[in-house]
Formats: sequence, C-alpha cells, structure tokens
Amino acid sequence: MTKQSSPSVSIIPAATGFSPGFVSLGLEAPLLATLETLGYEEPTPIQREAIPSLLAGRDLLGQAATGTGKTAAFALPILQRIRHEEKARPSALVLVPTRELAIQVGEAMQRYGKELRISVATIYGGQAIGPQLYALKRGVSVVVATPGRALDHIRRGTLKLQDVKVVVLDEADEMLDMGFADDLDAILEQTPKTKQTALFSATMPARIRSIAHRHLHNPIEITIAKEPVKAGTAPRVQQTAYVVTRPHRAATLARLIDMAGPKSALVFCRTRIEVDEVTSMLTGRGHRAEAIHGGMSQSQRDRVMQAFKSGQTELLVATDVAARGLDIPHVSHVINYELPSSAEVYVHRIGRTGRAGREGAAITILDPREQRLLRSIEQHTKARVAVLTIPTLADLRAKRLSRVQSDVEEMLQEGSLDSFIALVEGLSASHPPTEVAAAALKLVFRRQGGERPEQEIPILPVKQPEFGRPAHFAGRAGLSSRGGSAGVPRQPDGRARRGGQKTGMARVYVGAGRDSGIRPGDLVGAIANEAKVSSSVIGSIEIEERFSIVDIPEALAARVIELLGRSRIKGRKVPVRLFRE
Ligand code: AMP
Repeated sequence: MTKQSSPSVSIIPAATGFSPGFVSLGLEAPLLATLETLGYEEPTPIQREAIPSLLAGRDLLGQAATGTGKTAAFALPILQRIRHEEKARPSALVLVPTRELAIQVGEAMQRYGKELRISVATIYGGQAIGPQLYALKRGVSVVVATPGRALDHIRRGTLKLQDVKVVVLDEADEMLDMGFADDLDAILEQTPKTKQTALFSATMPARIRSIAHRHLHNPIEITIAKEPVKAGTAPRVQQTAYVVTRPHRAATLARLIDMAGPKSALVFCRTRIEVDEVTSMLTGRGHRAEAIHGGMSQSQRDRVMQAFKSGQTELLVATDVAARGLDIPHVSHVINYELPSSAEVYVHRIGRTGRAGREGAAITILDPREQRLLRSIEQHTKARVAVLTIPTLADLRAKRLSRVQSDVEEMLQEGSLDSFIALVEGLSASHPPTEVAAAALKLVFRRQGGERPEQEIPILPVKQPEFGRPAHFAGRAGLSSRGGSAGVPRQPDGRARRGGQKTGMARVYVGAGRDSGIRPGDLVGAIANEAKVSSSVIGSIEIEERFSIVDIPEALAARVIELLGRSRIKGRKVPVRLFRE
C-alpha cells in the first residue's frame, strides 16, 4: 500500500439498502453493513470531507472537536486500507491524550472493524502491562495508545512500528497541553517515512501547525463549521444544555421531559438504534411517544406523522434524515438527545420550535467531552446556550406537586363538579374532608409518575470557558412549558483569583516537584487516569522544586486526593492533600 494508491472501488448495486451517503464516499460492503447495523443514516460533515481523502492515501490535517463524528472519519478509511495487511505487527497506530479517550476510540475501532475481523489493542498508563504485552505479542492490526505508554512499549521492544501504514494523532492540542510533544516526536521517528498521517485537533495554534509541518506531507486541510451561520437564520429560542456522562443520558432525558411536561416535542437522536431505544424508554414511562427514522416504510412514517399532528402523540423521536423534508407543525420543545455533529444541523433542528414569534425551547444533552463543540456552535450561531445543572429529585417532586396544584385550580375554575361533590360528601362521612381531598391529590400525583422510584443524576463540573468570559448564564432559566423554572444555572467560572485561589476551586498539594522530574502532563495524566476526572476541568498547575499545586474543582477535590494518594506518580507513591499556605 503506497501513499498514492487510489481508493479501492467496490461495485455496490443501488438496491443494497445501504446509506447512499456512505456508499458515495467509497466505503465497501462490510463497513457499510456495520454502519447499517449501528443505525447511522448519513455521514457527518467531517466524515464526508475526510473519508475519500484518507481512502486515497492522503495525509490530513483536520480541525474538529469531539462530537463531530471524527472517530469514524478516520477509523473507517483506516480499517478499509489495512484490512488485507499482515497481523503480526500493527498496521495502524492511533495516539490519543488520555486513558478515557483511548478506551473510547479503541471500542469504536473494534465496533467499526467487527465485520472485517480487525484486531485492536488499547494500551494506556495505569493499566496492568501484562494483558497489553500479551495482546501485542499475539499480533494486532490496530494499536490505540496514550503517548507515554506507547513509548514504554517501544523501549521494551514490545511495540514494533516498522510496518505501520497509517498514524492518527487525535486531539493533538490536548496531547501537547499535557506535555507529550517530545514523546510524539520520539514515537513518530520509529514509524516508516512512507506512512500516511492524519492529525486532528479542536484548535489550530502555531505549535500544532509546526507538528503538522514536520510530520505531514502535502496534507489536505479540513475545517468544519468555519463559516458563521448567516445572520438572522438562527432561530431565537431559549437554548439550554445539560452535561452528563453516557450512562446517565437516558435518565436525564426522562427527567427533563418530566420537568418540562411538553405538549408537543421533537426529540432528536443521531442513530436509528437510539431512536428506537429512546422511544421505548419514554413509552415505558407512560409518555405518548413514537419513533420516526429512515429504516421505516413510507406508510409507517405517514401514520406516525398523522398521530403527531393530531396531538395523539406528544413526543416524536427522530433522526435528522427522517425529520428532513417533513412538514412538522410548530413544537414547543426541541430536545437534542445528543449534541448534533455540526452547527448547521443544530440550527436546522432548533428551527422546528419558536416559529412565527411563538415561544419555544431548545434543550441539548451533551457529553462532557462535547463542551468544546457546544462552544463552537454558540460562536457560529451567535447565540448563547445556558448550561444548567440537571434538576434534582427534589426539584422534580416540587414541580410535580405544583403541577397537581395548578391542574386542580384549573378544574375548580372549570366547575361542573356536582357529581364529584356528592362523592366527597359521601367519603367525608367517615374521613375528614381535608384527608379526602389529599387522597384525591395523591392519586393524581401518582398517576403523573410522582411515586416512581428514580435516582439522582451526578452533577458534573463545567469546562472552564476560554478567553476569560463566563460561559454560562447567571440567572435562573426556565424550561417548563407551563411557566415556573427548572434547572439551576451553574456558577459562572473564570472569576478573579482571591489570595491565589479561584472561587469554586480547591488547591491540591502533591508531594513531588521538579526534582522528581514532574511535568504538568504527568499530573494531568495521573489525575485524569487515576481519579477519572476529565482533564478539561483541571485548573492551573504550579510545579515547585519539591512539590506541586494543582487547582481542582472543589466538588472533585476529595475524590482526587483520595485516589491520587493511593496511586503512583512517575512510579512512586507521593503524599496528596489540600494545600495549606
Ligand atoms: P465522535 O465525534 O467521533 O466522538 O463521535 C460522536 C458520536 O457520534 C459517537 O457516539 C458516534 O457513534 C456517533 N456518530 C459518528 N458518526 C455518526 C453518523 N454518521 N451518524 C450517526 N452517529 C454518528
């Protein structure tokens, strides 16, 4: 396989049922079948741009954040290009900054490569080296690794890179922020000159360009969503977002819908599979929800649309493809179950609400890693999206009680209660009338799901805003269609320091400094990996001769102190505690 080789073309009959969007990019049947199984309906913008060039063997410099679909943008062409290579030594190497990302990308590669039976090893620091050695020895086609651990293996002679055909540097800016620049150079030096290289970064500062200049040959450059959305085209609706990890996403959607009580809402998902899962979850909770996606027949879709238009269904769960071209009436809420992959799709989705001067709300649920993409969507739409904390169980209970109260008040206004008054009088013969009324209200409360067992959803810290501007609203923002408010805004961050300490941040002392060769990247890596805290929430780091001080959000400090204190930094145990001046 040479750099100039052209993409292999497979003849796929038009009637295969595979997504024409992916077929036209040059992907072959086994990968198309996998995408079908995963429920992907069409490529995201970065996939549309990157896949043909990568299949053609070009180097690539891509500016794209997490959430744009960039993993598939490099994984699919890599898998196709290396599918016939020998498995004795790795054919592809993907370098990522953190252990959590290594796991995520490793799993994605495995998922996409399943039909092709491509073996993937994921190697990162903090994990026992035994299984990694075993996997490498047995022979794998793809290695996904953090730079430190990759270099360890290269030095041990257990990771051999002389047969590597493709290298990906993912989230390159974050790898540099973590102090991995020298490690990257050392690793790339071990790879053949003829390899293909792709570099992805959310930002493109000069130091990323310099790496690209040194390691990429005549790369094609891709920037997604550079152009701001045309003035006046972005709808002016109240926009809010909630940050939550994947396992809590469904519970968050349920909580937000319970809080908002929408009469007509569109819930957008990225894939068919998610549309089906979300619809069953919502109907299971007693909502009138229906699914619409590209895998359904025209008559099924017509029926679902009719039910939604007539008000029989209150929640329509859709993919973008299914919603496109549909004459959907005005809806009170658009809910993004996931952040869409580009600003254009976001604007298109939220344009379904707030039409013709009517009130509308757009609610987005996103992964902590997607906060950067949200920020870029804000910049492109020139509209602020308020990041709020997820309503607690107490908020939900209060909301439900006030809803029962207003429903009863409405009923009292409406009157025509004679037959019920007779019932109350009958019951009051053996119970005090207040108890009779309370029991009736409890019944309503219960019917509205008020007594269903629910769990609290963990609150995550919000990424520090760039350019020193507070990223989030300071006021309370309502999301209820019936008035009232839900969701408590997060503390605006980026405030001035007081006595060296940022509000909301704790200063954590780590008993190792310059004299033990500690670099900021070691601390960020150890905190992110050991305490499972996203590296993006770590504040400033000061490295002194004998110790270091790291700013950590107060809410996470106890966990970081405990877990970091139990682990090793640069191979040794060090004291970790709150810093005292
Ligand atoms: P990434 O930006 O690579 O982290 O991808 C974000 C999410 O989008 C992942 O959950 C992917 O499974 C999903 N995804 C990627 N490409 C597509 C697509 N073409 N259609 C639907 N979902 C996608």
